[in-house]
Amino acid sequence: MRCLICKRGSTEPATTTVTLERDGLIMVIKGVPAQVCRNCGEAYVDEKVASELLTSAKRRRNRGPKSRSAST
Ligand SMILES: [Zn+2]
Repeated sequence: MRCLICKRGSTEPATTTVTLERDGLIMVIKGVPAQVCRNCGEAYVDEKVASELLTSAKRRRNRGPKSRSAST
């Protein structure tokens, strides 16, 4: 597809790094499949992929540091 940022380059399948910020928690996810502009490097993450990342981020957060409570 045509890049929306530089409007000159076209994108190709590649991977990128996504940073998610939720409630003051920052998560960096590497190797996310995306369309990356060959001209300016802007990455377009598929909506479906993005929502999956958010879901797994939430899950991880819910698991939290709670599980190691009992023995010490
Ligand atoms: Zn571009």
